[in-house]
Amino acid sequence: MGFDGIEREPGRVSVREKGEKSLRAGHPWVYSGGVASVKGAPGAGDWVGVYGGGERFYGWGHYSPESRIAVRVLEWGGDAPPGEDWWRSRLSQAVERRREVPPPGPDSARRLVHGESDGLPGLVLDRYGSYLVLQAFTAGMDRRKEEIASIAAAEVGAAGVYERSDTEVRRLEGLGPSAGLLVGEEPPDRVTIAEGECSFLVDIRGGQKTGFYIDQRRNREVVARHASGRRVLDLFCYTGAFACASLTGGAEEVLLVDSSPAALALAEMNLVRNGHPRDRWRVEKGNAFEVARSLRDRGESFDLVVVDPPKLAPTRAHAPRAGRAYKDINLLAIKLCRPGGLVASFSCSAGVDAGRFQQILAWAAVDAAREVRILERFSQPPDHPVSLRFPEGEYLKGLLCRVD
Ligand code: SAH
Repeated sequence: MGFDGIEREPGRVSVREKGEKSLRAGHPWVYSGGVASVKGAPGAGDWVGVYGGGERFYGWGHYSPESRIAVRVLEWGGDAPPGEDWWRSRLSQAVERRREVPPPGPDSARRLVHGESDGLPGLVLDRYGSYLVLQAFTAGMDRRKEEIASIAAAEVGAAGVYERSDTEVRRLEGLGPSAGLLVGEEPPDRVTIAEGECSFLVDIRGGQKTGFYIDQRRNREVVARHASGRRVLDLFCYTGAFACASLTGGAEEVLLVDSSPAALALAEMNLVRNGHPRDRWRVEKGNAFEVARSLRDRGESFDLVVVDPPKLAPTRAHAPRAGRAYKDINLLAIKLCRPGGLVASFSCSAGVDAGRFQQILAWAAVDAAREVRILERFSQPPDHPVSLRFPEGEYLKGLLCRVD
C-alpha cells in the first residue's frame, strides 16, 4: 500500500474569521474554536482541505478531532492532498537545510526535523550516528510514521529508525505512548556520539526525550570556554554533558547533581570514557533544589554553576508556578557563586519567554543581594530552527551571567 492508500474525497474544514487571521499570517494551526464547520466526516489524522470565508482555499492539513488544535496545515495550496513524493521532498529538504550548518562528523548528533519549523507539524527526527529517532506528536504523523521512517532512513542512509513517542503530550491527541523499532536494525544499548572534543554514550531506547539534549550543544561549548580553573556545579546534569565539556575546558572539579539514577550512571561512564580522573568529579543523586539548599547551608561555593532544569512550564498556563521554581533554583545558584563566578542558567519552557526568564533572574539577583551581569545569551542551535510563521518553535533560552 502507498502512503495514504486510496482515500475517499478528502474532508473540508471551514474556518471562521477568528481562526483565519493566523492562517493569513502563514501560521499552521487551526484551533478547534476557530472551526466553523467540518464536512465529509474526516477521521483522526486524515488530510483535510482548509477553507476560509468566501471559500478561500488555504491548503492541506492533518485533522485532529480530539485536540484543541483541530488542524495543522502541512501544504499551502495544492490541488490534491500530498502523496508519497511530497513526503520524500519535504523530508529531503529538511535534511538538505542541515547541510548548510557546519558539517557534522559521521557520529555527531543532529536534529533533522524540528516539527512546524520544518513544515512538518508534529514530527521530530533526531540523528545519532547511524540511527534515527522519531517522535510523532499528532494523529496525522502517528499514522504515517512507518512510511516517514523508511523515507528518512533511505535519505540519510540510516541503519535503523527507532520511535520514542512515549510522551505525555500525545494524550491531547487521544494517542497513547508508543516506542520501538520502526525500520531497519535495532540500535545498540548505547550509541556513541561526538560533540566538540567530547564523546558521549546515548541511550536511545531508555534515555530522556530522544536520548540526549542535542539542543544544548553550542551552549556547552560556550560554558566550556569559561570553565578553565573553575570549581563547577552542574545542576540537572542528566548524562553529564555540561560536566564533561567543562572538565575538557580545564575545570578544576565538578559536582554533578540529578534525580535520575540511570542518567547519573551514564554520566559516570561518560566522564570516565572522556578520561576525566575520578578525583576531579563527584555525582550526587537528589532533588537539585534540596541539594543546592544544603550546599548553601554548608557554606559551599563554586566558580561556575550550570542550571538546566527540565521543562517546568510546558505552556503559558504553567508559567506562574514555574516562575517561582525558576526563581528559587536561580536564587540558590547565585548564592552558591563566589564573587566573580558565573551562572549559566537555562529554561526550555515554551511558556516562559526570554524576557520573562531574564526578569526572573533579576528578582533572584535582588533577593540574593548580588550584582549580576549578562555576559552571553543562549538559544537553540540552527538544527532547531524557529520559523517566523511559528514563534512557538522558540523554546530554549539562557543567560551566562557574572555574579559579583
Ligand atoms: N543539562 C543536561 C540536560 C538536563 S535535562 C544536558 O546537558 O544533557 C533535565 C534533567 O533534570 C534530567 O536529567 C532530569 O532527570 C533532571 N531532573 C528533573 N527534576 C529534577 C530535580 N527536581 N532534581 C534534580 N534533577 C532533576
